[in-house]
Amino acid sequence: MTSRPLVLGGGIGGILAAAALNRAGHRPVILEQDDLSAAATVRRGTPQAGQLHNLLTRAQVHLDTLLPGYRDALLRAGGVEAVVSRQTHVHELGIAMPERDLGLRLWSAPRAVIEQVARDLLPADVEIRERTRVTGIDVSDGEVRGVHIERDGRSDRLPGDLVVDAMGTLSRAADWTGSTAPVETTGVRQWYCTAVVQRPQAWRGRPDFWLVFPDHPSTRGALVSPWGPDRWYVSLSGVAGDPVPRTPADLVAFSETLPDPSVADLLRAAPVVEPPRVFGKPTAVWRHHELLPSPVTGVLPLGDAVGSLNPLFGQGISVAAWQAAGLEEAARDSGSLRQLTRRHLRHAAAACAAAWALMHVYAPPAGSDLPRLREDEWQTLAGLVRDDVDAHRRYVGMWHLLEPTSVLRELVPAIAPEILT
Ligand SMILES: Cc1cc2nc3c(=O)[nH]c(=O)nc-3n(C[C@H](O)[C@H](O)[C@H](O)COP(=O)(O)OP(=O)(O)OC[C@H]3O[C@@H](n4cnc5c(N)ncnc54)[C@H](O)[C@@H]3O)c2cc1C
Repeated sequence: MTSRPLVLGGGIGGILAAAALNRAGHRPVILEQDDLSAAATVRRGTPQAGQLHNLLTRAQVHLDTLLPGYRDALLRAGGVEAVVSRQTHVHELGIAMPERDLGLRLWSAPRAVIEQVARDLLPADVEIRERTRVTGIDVSDGEVRGVHIERDGRSDRLPGDLVVDAMGTLSRAADWTGSTAPVETTGVRQWYCTAVVQRPQAWRGRPDFWLVFPDHPSTRGALVSPWGPDRWYVSLSGVAGDPVPRTPADLVAFSETLPDPSVADLLRAAPVVEPPRVFGKPTAVWRHHELLPSPVTGVLPLGDAVGSLNPLFGQGISVAAWQAAGLEEAARDSGSLRQLTRRHLRHAAAACAAAWALMHVYAPPAGSDLPRLREDEWQTLAGLVRDDVDAHRRYVGMWHLLEPTSVLRELVPAIAPEILT
């Protein structure tokens, strides 16, 4: 490598990629189009930043390794840590899941806070150039040569032979590099409606979550996540065609249709302090860079630039962090930029595949002919998870991206293998 690596995009994926490259001995430069001076706010480039985000164990492991001290800093910044599944009160598989400590934790904070805490932990020799918009990537002879930028109305070119594309769903890197990577899309048609409510006195300061996961054929779900000492973020979810709740009364009416009455009970006792905001996610997208016979050497996509997933599963940051951990290893061990590129693309795809497989088992696109788990298989799973602590731990480990979906077949051998791919 002849230059400082350029990380395009300073969202959570870009920050983690920069941390990974730094740990592998480089001094990366992050180029971010937005102004980052305001503390932990919703930026133009990250419209989802007002949404509370949950960090699965997969994300936790890599965040704390790539940015040592991340957990403690997040908790100091007001993030919440709950004991899975003793304090997470999950309704899934048609049952209230058993409440026991499985040795796993769930972290939660607004997306903007998650990013700010990570940015503050970056080592001093990672440079961040904000208000710097990337407008193109130079490629010749199959290798990246640099990027074009605009800053304060001026255009410039930065040389570089290693470029991480962490520009999220806005990324135009494929157009700029002429990439023909196949793009897989799946119609998730998901909407999310999030309101902030005041916690009743009895629940103040407690880290409890409630999750109602939509069990097929229902498409309605809910997530109540604590924030600060006295707030809950209440996210109700459904699919296109189902009316979106717009008022406090709508929120209660919607939650009364859920199989677990807890969310409606909580909402009745908790005044709305910020009205519902709606996020739509029509499709999940996976760019298969790993299938390119001759990928451009030195262009490494990561995070939402590879796969933009169904938010219902809370996997996006886990996948980005997992990919960044793989990037560190590949950057340390690869003998050439070509080898590094191929290793990274393979690993980034494997991380995305794990998340994608889970999405297909639990929320196959409406109208698709993908095979589904049968009712009796759900029931067998529910019984196992309820009665066997180890089965419960492995099952929840799969949701936290620690176990592959094949764990389902280990638990219930009758499940057809094609459901799990
Ligand atoms: C409603 C909703 C809920 C979600 N909930 C969860 C959750 O609970 N848990 C979870 O793990 N994930 C969740 N996600 C997914 C998560 O938000 C994303 O996976 C994650 O933020 C992706 O990070 P990223 O850095 O790859 O992309 P982004 O966060 O999109 O960052 C991309 C960055 O690149 C910058 N950029 C773009 N173009 C340019 C350019 N030309 N020049 C310079 N900079 C540029 C942008 O300004 C931005 O800062 C959710 C998503 C949504 C929509």
